[in-house]
Amino acid sequence: MLLITCPHCGPRAELEFSYGGEAHIARPIDPTGLDDEAWATFLYKRSNPKGVHAERWRHLHGCGRFFNVLRDTISDTIVTTYPAGQPRPALPSDGKENAR
Ligand SMILES: [Zn+2]
Repeated sequence: MLLITCPHCGPRAELEFSYGGEAHIARPIDPTGLDDEAWATFLYKRSNPKGVHAERWRHLHGCGRFFNVLRDTISDTIVTTYPAGQPRPALPSDGKENAR
């Protein structure tokens, strides 16, 4: 079981939380101006990376607030958590894949 640190309540068991999909997906400012392909991309296309993934979680059985989690999808470990609305924190490993 994962131990997830809610930025507002502290560490709690995974059972108190619900997964809310990929984080930092911005809703289009004018959805009516999008064609079907752009709208489908907004609704369904996600990055699904192998490695650190920014996710949205909700402390459903606690404070009820949404927040963001950086989780390593390979090891299923939580790297960090941060309040919703804040940018994704930079990691020391960011950009190393492109440095080769
Ligand atoms: Zn909480």
